[in-house]
Amino acid sequence: MRSARLVQVGAKDLSPLRFDLGNRTESQIPGVLASQGPSFLLFCHNTPMTTADALVDWFEGHARSLPWRTEPRDAYRTLVSEIMLQQTQVDRVAPRFVEFVRRWPDLKALAAASEDDVLAIWSGLGYYRRARLLHRLAREVVGSGRNQLPEDIEALRTLPGIGDYTAAAVGSLAFGLEAPVLDGNVQRVVARVTASDGDPRASGGQTRMKAWVRKLFPGHHPGVVNEALMELGATVCTPSRPRCDSCPLLRCCKGYQAGCPEEYPPPRKVRATEHLRWVAVCFVGSDGRWLLRRVQEGPILRGLWLPPLADLEAEADPVSVAMGLVPEGLMVETGTMFGAVRHHITHRRIEVIPVLVPTLDADLPAAVWQWSRPGEVLGGTSSLFEKLHKVIRNNEKDS
Ligand code: SF4
Repeated sequence: MRSARLVQVGAKDLSPLRFDLGNRTESQIPGVLASQGPSFLLFCHNTPMTTADALVDWFEGHARSLPWRTEPRDAYRTLVSEIMLQQTQVDRVAPRFVEFVRRWPDLKALAAASEDDVLAIWSGLGYYRRARLLHRLAREVVGSGRNQLPEDIEALRTLPGIGDYTAAAVGSLAFGLEAPVLDGNVQRVVARVTASDGDPRASGGQTRMKAWVRKLFPGHHPGVVNEALMELGATVCTPSRPRCDSCPLLRCCKGYQAGCPEEYPPPRKVRATEHLRWVAVCFVGSDGRWLLRRVQEGPILRGLWLPPLADLEAEADPVSVAMGLVPEGLMVETGTMFGAVRHHITHRRIEVIPVLVPTLDADLPAAVWQWSRPGEVLGGTSSLFEKLHKVIRNNEKDS
């Protein structure tokens, strides 16, 4: 592959633009220049364009404008964005990220925040364990007297919530360390370019992919290479219908050359779906506020404020189970059962039976209980609260 470097006459920025000459002959080069407009000069030509050159050039011209892509890259902002982006889409993350870093612009500010406030800003992003670990990380780093993230992959990996992926992302993007980032997007791109039919998540596959990415680093900022691959996977080399005609890696892509890029990587084994059944006790006061309890146990929803929840055996009566959860000191009427609400958390499919229990207000320990409405919860909650509230409200309207 050959390229020309073009410089625009009179341009303030004299960095040359690289232009792919393809298979054009020397005599066709004036035509290439003319196609760029009258104010371009040929800087040099016949320069080999490497795969990394093509990728980085493409990224410079096509990167989406995102709130964490500000220069110079800040390690804290990079960390927050990478943690938020885990299993969450960019358009959901962007507004939360802006709010998060406006409120806590650095590790020191985040360390001083309460966990409830952090979970509240995180509401709607799901996977709240990420928020709790990020908060713990800030406290640990600030508590050790550093206030800044370490510029070292191994040291990053020792911090709460940081695994291989996040350490490589923060290390390369913010500090320029040569660490390949293998998120799902990058794994797909590399599997297709190399036509690898091994499991990209297995350790052998990871080692081979990292070695391939490392070969792109010489002469380029490792963070830019990593981010360009991530962007390519997110916007061009998508899981179905990759836009190969617009791809800077087209010429070296073995998956494309084989005519079946979508067959790489091989499909992953699907995690078995877990079906759960819960009862949600909707204690509603005379002013319409709900009594919420902080979830203190279990692998999911821990730390969030929700109506009291309990597992429901197949034969159990939801109203009886609900009445067994009335806290001491609360005056209640008999419960009424409503239609089930469906809620999904990762591979779990949860059927939640709401039981409305009208009640009189009562003072209960504030560490565990609060009276609230959707949108007014102090601390984090889940979209499950809004769903339950909607079911009860709609039934009240109908009756
Ligand atoms: S050529 Fe197609 S399959 Fe290959 S990396 Fe580009 S978009 Fe993906």
